Amino acid sequence: KLEVKSDIEIAQQAKMKLITEIAASIGLQEDDIELYGRYKAKLSADTLERIKTNESGKVILVTAINPTPAGEGKSTVTVGLGDALNAIGKKTMIAIREPSLGPTMGIKGGAAGGGFSQVLPMEDINLHFTGDIHAITSANNALAALIDNHIQQGNELRIDQRRIVWKRALDLNDRALRKVIIGLGGPMQGVPREDGFDITVASEIMAVLCLSEDIKDLKNRLGKMVIAYNMDKQPVTVAQLGAEGALTLLLKEAIKPNLVQTIAHTPALIHGGPFANIAHGCNSVIATKAAAKLADFVVTEAGFGADLGAEKFLHIKARTSGIKPEAVVIVATIRALKMHGGVAKDHLKEENIEALRIGFANLQKHAETLQNFGLPFVIAINKFITDTEAEMNTMLELCAANGMEAAVTEVWEKGGDGGIVLAQKLVEVIEQHEGTFSPLYELSDSLENKITAIAEKVYGAGKVEYSQKAKKQITQFAELGWGNLPICMAKTQYSLSDDPSKLGRPADFSITIRELKPSIGAGFIVALTGEVMTMPGLPKNPAALRMDVDEQGQAVGLF
Ligand code: ADP
Repeated sequence: KLEVKSDIEIAQQAKMKLITEIAASIGLQEDDIELYGRYKAKLSADTLERIKTNESGKVILVTAINPTPAGEGKSTVTVGLGDALNAIGKKTMIAIREPSLGPTMGIKGGAAGGGFSQVLPMEDINLHFTGDIHAITSANNALAALIDNHIQQGNELRIDQRRIVWKRALDLNDRALRKVIIGLGGPMQGVPREDGFDITVASEIMAVLCLSEDIKDLKNRLGKMVIAYNMDKQPVTVAQLGAEGALTLLLKEAIKPNLVQTIAHTPALIHGGPFANIAHGCNSVIATKAAAKLADFVVTEAGFGADLGAEKFLHIKARTSGIKPEAVVIVATIRALKMHGGVAKDHLKEENIEALRIGFANLQKHAETLQNFGLPFVIAINKFITDTEAEMNTMLELCAANGMEAAVTEVWEKGGDGGIVLAQKLVEVIEQHEGTFSPLYELSDSLENKITAIAEKVYGAGKVEYSQKAKKQITQFAELGWGNLPICMAKTQYSLSDDPSKLGRPADFSITIRELKPSIGAGFIVALTGEVMTMPGLPKNPAALRMDVDEQGQAVGLF
């Protein structure tokens, strides 16, 4: 039996360079960075300002098929591709999200790539890192405390305490906090009301931080966040409460991107990590832009599959920031496609060509969508040791027959060396293609038409249905002047439809919009299909129960 090292074993055995050396490799001096120990640093505000006049490199977006429990390895491919591009002589940086503690302690056990394609120091990145997510938690909860205090002190803004939409936050999976009653115990303990907790990465502040251009924009966006409705059902904002200054102050370090390195010493900016359902699922605009100013190529990633992450990258992040990706990499695995073709998780090791052919339709849909956006793409077939030769040949044939450029990647097993073919294909595709990127809807379209465009063109839905509530909200939101904002769809990641059990490429389905939610600071309207979990629970066998720390202070069992 092949002995496979765990991600953390590989990470701990890797030899890191000092972060000052990594900074020097992208032309930054010690004064340009703020050290967080020897292997992590933030880019200073002065540096971010100074590099703005540099020419921008090419941005490559990594996305995937609809995720399955079989795993796709999007982060792994992102990191490995960055290493591979450097290996073929392209000056490349990686710009990815910060992992949330909730999934780390719950099911994932780490989210900094895998195998020989990881970012380091892996333990730090997965646990607390440079404190950005804690700062966001503090800002979120400072705001919650200010709202309740405002009501306790006389409620000058006439906030309807039954219509407070700002929740408290915690960066852990804790289902018992989803709905809570606060303020019990009499007049001195506040005003009793129903409240709830979201995981920090679902806080609008996370989305705001990730879409802000700079500290001024951050403050402006924080001020616009809607926290409640008043007795006349009019929105109440953070600016009316006068809290945006304090919130920005709490975030003044968190807004600076974090510099780390991969196992192969490729510089990586890891910054921000909003949910990809209730929010847009991409790392920060500041980090992606900074990476583009410091390197010729930037490899970045968006959450979940292309129907959620890539769609939002292209309609929300790209539009607000002006970042235009040059090309897209769609990560697919044979295992996951077999699941899309109907194979159960415990039968994935058995060869099944027929299921692969059926499941391939899922990949095909995402490829068509990116083509509709006018973007060139390459399929990265993330190879698992269980893939059979016949399956791999079928996969390559299917790609070729459908006119898709594809490359087998072995970056998990071999690091950057396993991604050379992908890197070369990508460069070729970029050189051959003229940028014709265009969004699938215009901001001036009605909210309804924007939702329809996403449902039909990205999901392949036949029609969109609205609840009474959603219909009413569409009219109200337009009256409130929110009609020109982009849509952020909150949908299951597992299916192209809003039903997680419909795998592959479902046909003849309708999407139901249950409710809309304004994220005015972030600058989008969330359209909720079905129930969306904003505070996950822990599974029966949480990853946390396999974690430990030895007497030397080394992390154990962090995947
Ligand atoms: P995603 O970004 O799609 O969630 P990750 O890159 O985080 O996926 O990978 C999920 C897990 O799968 C990681 O533990 C990683 O080590 C593992 N993994 C990824 N690619 C492979 C592969 N080709 N073979 C074996 N394990 C892999």
